[in-house]
Amino acid sequence: MTDSVRDLLQRNLTQLTQRVQQACLRAARASDEVTIVAVTKSVPLDVIKILYELGCREFGESRPQQLQLRSAACPPDVHWHLIGHLQRNKAAPMCRLAQWIHSVDSWRLMERLATLIPSEAPSPRILLEVNVSGETTKQGFAPDDLRNNWQRLLTPSWPVPCGLMTMAPLSESPEAARPTFHELRLLRDELQQLSQGKLSLPHLSMGMSGDFEVAVEEGATLIRIGSLLFEGLPSA
Ligand SMILES: *Cc1c(COP(=O)(O)O)cnc(C)c1O
Repeated sequence: MTDSVRDLLQRNLTQLTQRVQQACLRAARASDEVTIVAVTKSVPLDVIKILYELGCREFGESRPQQLQLRSAACPPDVHWHLIGHLQRNKAAPMCRLAQWIHSVDSWRLMERLATLIPSEAPSPRILLEVNVSGETTKQGFAPDDLRNNWQRLLTPSWPVPCGLMTMAPLSESPEAARPTFHELRLLRDELQQLSQGKLSLPHLSMGMSGDFEVAVEEGATLIRIGSLLFEGLPSA
């Protein structure tokens, strides 16, 4: 049983890596510019452990509580990425346990993080989640909110974001995601300009199982992959 799960995960991982490499080639990018975050929210801990043995070190969870439990059960060299909504009252443990928080989606959460992250200690890397498509069901900053209030982030005592994250609207067609990803990149460039060298935004977290190739072509540095990696698993 475990052997066949391992073989399946190895195969899925190899195929995924090859597809990322091909997308990088099309976009004239180096494939080491793109990090695959294995989104493990839908699989049991055993599957995470097999992925670890296969060499994966970047794991994403959408629920803070689950990230907390799983990070306690995994080797310390795993990098945990929180990719789902973070309530302010759960922010303290996440600052200790997560290496990345992709989902900082409000000024209030940013203010809370500012009280938790001492500037000199190791602390999570922060991405600002942007609701590019403007869907009312989505979390995230409106692009204009970031543009108009960007100066707030240049306050010395605030945590420094290192990029932006978004989710494309649900669609059957990967191409439908392209305008969202393209806009996130343009917004990043614009905010980078507004920062006057005080901070830098190298990272774009965008692309999931259905649209990661388009995201890589549009400049993603982190892709968040769940279902594709676990295709064929009995539990997934
Ligand atoms: C679940 C999830 C993913 C992974 O989605 P798949 O389509 O399963 O690859 C990526 N990002 C976020 C924010 C998620 O919640």
